[in-house]
Amino acid sequence: MASCKKCGKHIEKNERAIYKRMINRGASEDDLLCKVCLAQHLGVDTAKIDEKIEHFKSIGCTLFN
Ligand SMILES: [Zn+2]
Repeated sequence: MASCKKCGKHIEKNERAIYKRMINRGASEDDLLCKVCLAQHLGVDTAKIDEKIEHFKSIGCTLFN
């Protein structure tokens, strides 16, 4: 299973999808960040990442299927 490049935490399906959606659609499995590290990376709250996940799910983004 994939783990976060920065903290080593297990990457959930949604975290993989949001990383790809927001950073790099072609990211490899070795290149992923968990949502905590992704939020830090982007300089936003983790809640903002959850919001984005819900948003992309709601518009039917195929990465979240
Ligand atoms: Zn992390």
